Amino acid sequence: MKVFKFGGSSLANSTNIKKVKNIIINEINSNGKDLVVVLSAVFGITNLLFKICDNLKNNQSIDSEIKTFREKFLNIIEELLYESFKDTCKIFLEETINTITNLKNESNNLTKREERIIVAQGEIITSFIFHNFLLQEGVENLFVNALDFIKINEEREPDYEYINSVASNIFSSKSLYITQGYICRNHLGEIDNLGRGGSDYTASIIGYVLKAKEIQIWSDVSGIYNNDPRFVENTYPVNYLTFDEAAELAYFGAKVLHPSTVLPAQKSSIPVILKNTFNPFTAGTVITNLVLSEGFKAIAAKDNITIIQIKSYRMLMAYGFLRKIFETFERFKVPVDVITTSEVSVSLTIDDDTHLNEIVEELSTFANIEVIKNNTVIACVGYIPKNKPGYLQKVLTLLEKIPIRMLSYGSSDYNITLVIDTTYKKEALNKLNELFL
Ligand code: ASP
Ligand code: MG
Repeated sequence: MKVFKFGGSSLANSTNIKKVKNIIINEINSNGKDLVVVLSAVFGITNLLFKICDNLKNNQSIDSEIKTFREKFLNIIEELLYESFKDTCKIFLEETINTITNLKNESNNLTKREERIIVAQGEIITSFIFHNFLLQEGVENLFVNALDFIKINEEREPDYEYINSVASNIFSSKSLYITQGYICRNHLGEIDNLGRGGSDYTASIIGYVLKAKEIQIWSDVSGIYNNDPRFVENTYPVNYLTFDEAAELAYFGAKVLHPSTVLPAQKSSIPVILKNTFNPFTAGTVITNLVLSEGFKAIAAKDNITIIQIKSYRMLMAYGFLRKIFETFERFKVPVDVITTSEVSVSLTIDDDTHLNEIVEELSTFANIEVIKNNTVIACVGYIPKNKPGYLQKVLTLLEKIPIRMLSYGSSDYNITLVIDTTYKKEALNKLNELFL
């Protein structure tokens, strides 16, 4: 059994949806009918639904958003479907819209529960239309409601006990199944979701539970690139990565994969393959637990990084200093990315500035604080074991003309992390491209 997940851009319009159909037919013809297809919402729809929620919270009209929503799906329905399939989907579309507008009437104060119902509608209508389209084209398939089996617990983690217990009944035969990504139920049984970009996570959870042979994530790019094509020429998709390498890249800005996606797949060593719907026969990036080669494989960069330099008032670092620092960040629920230390000071980076002033105020009660904005974190990722000489030297030699504000190395065998002023980003990415020569 395999799991294929298609993202919003693969489903953006009727032309793209036909490409998705062809990819599925090709898979069935080559490997038989043993496939679970996980669909995201049509491109832009989840954002639109969140906009509707915002408007409702602010007592603003949602008429124009509902109009956009209706037109988008009517267009797709008109272009893809005929006869009874068209009528069925049009009725379903109006029911979906009613679900949204009825919530509007329920109360002025949109609750979290109501918001989650609204933002779930994108995946629900998209998958319903796709299921009908396949039926119309003679491709037998079973429609599965993710709300019937994807469940999260109070910690918002997948409830594997529950999922396992129902999945074997739902996916009991070799067949083609169509279901939704992103949406789930929570411990109260309410409609909920796995967070933005969560469809990858759904695919990974299903793959894990059903012990899939592989999970393919289909988007509009041919995998994870070795460097950022917007800044560097002659970049290429990396053929093989390990889960550890992919996680570092996802965390530090490669936008191809939802970071937690890799966890369930990694646990059971299911290969995750990143493929391009618009170029289906290119290999893409294969992610496994196997270390196939040593050396640098890819670079990722993340902007808008703030450095906070924390210098102890006491001239010698006493124990408890680090604890006090991290407790502050924990209180404001702000994750810390890169850390470096000296005898009396600690530098760290955050990418969420929302609570910066409060954090600085609190840290200032026991330390001298300096804040530096507009930095870029660059992660040089690959299998670069620290018991071998040369890897760090290589990076530093290439960057000899660029001031490096922070450097983190040695905590894993997969990553050298640098923090630089964003002004130097393009130069640094181009220099570091030589790591792959
Ligand atoms: N449609 C959802 C989102 O836009 C989930 C996903 O695309 O994975 O976040
Ligand atoms: Mg998406």
